[in-house]
Amino acid sequence: MRALRMVGFQREPELMEIPEPVPGPGEVVVRVGAAGACHSDLHVLYELDASAVWQLPMTLGHETAGWVHTMGEGVTGLAEGDPVAVYGAWGCGRCQRCLVGMENYCEVPSLIGGGGLGLDGGMADYLLVPHQRHLVALPAGLDPVTAAPLTDAGLTPYHAIRRSWPKLTPDATCVLIGVGGLGHIGVQIVRATTAARVIAVDVKPEALELARKVGADHAVLSDDNAATAIRDLTGGRGADVVIDFVGATPTMNLARAVARPMADVTLVGIGGGEIPLGFFTQPYEVSIATTYWGSRGELVELLALAASGRVSTEHTVYRLEDGAKAYRDLHDGVVTGRAVVVP
Ligand SMILES: [Zn+2]
Ligand SMILES: [Zn+2]
Repeated sequence: MRALRMVGFQREPELMEIPEPVPGPGEVVVRVGAAGACHSDLHVLYELDASAVWQLPMTLGHETAGWVHTMGEGVTGLAEGDPVAVYGAWGCGRCQRCLVGMENYCEVPSLIGGGGLGLDGGMADYLLVPHQRHLVALPAGLDPVTAAPLTDAGLTPYHAIRRSWPKLTPDATCVLIGVGGLGHIGVQIVRATTAARVIAVDVKPEALELARKVGADHAVLSDDNAATAIRDLTGGRGADVVIDFVGATPTMNLARAVARPMADVTLVGIGGGEIPLGFFTQPYEVSIATTYWGSRGELVELLALAASGRVSTEHTVYRLEDGAKAYRDLHDGVVTGRAVVVP
């Protein structure tokens, strides 16, 4: 079969011919319908040298959906051809976090995070999934191309927003910084699951246009006046929830500057920024947290939300043969929505 593989640090991924995986006991092979290209893959390829801890070559892709292909001994309740999304965080399956479906926060230290994150991922004709618990049935009407990006680019904002639901009351304001692959889904998730007002922030006018198109109440250009503009829009109070999908020092400073007392400030983007933390650096009872991915149960909820038509993804489709170009375009910032690779 064909697979788009990471072959070395700071090298472009390569399309290779490798043997089709054979499922062992408890394992499932998924025929890939679509696999999303994520910004974090670029970090792995060009910024963090994962080759020291991961065995290369490794097939990329941690956002996958497709159909059950073959099953190993002991797999029950699935049939060949069943449409599935792959829950991408593969933990130990036995610790307390894994047992409640939060394998993204598995407590057993491991540098292997899942397919495409240490093990072979979904940018191939077939994907070996080590346990059927990682498979979530696709609801009727949701195709793999739409579903694949939801498993990460959708699940990550869904989790970040869902944890702050109690603060997203009808009189509340939610500020989302960065309207890219995650942020444009985030806007829709806030709109579909709460009655809070959405203010989207970005440096690019076309991103602000996308934010308005997908339901943001206000779109604010990220410049020196952004904090004042957001304060003005909230009658001087500030935001109840701020989610930073960028994570650079300026966006983190903006996030804190617009937080109201008791607000949640959630850092999702891995832009590498840092801000000092002290007693007087933010209003009282502001909670600052990072989040990583989401739970299996939340993926089930999000797929249901997408199947209902209330959340959709913008995506650009590439053939598997053009997978390296998908990453090049992602790197150059010229992809509209999510880049999705289809075998
Ligand atoms: Zn990702
Ligand atoms: Zn675990």
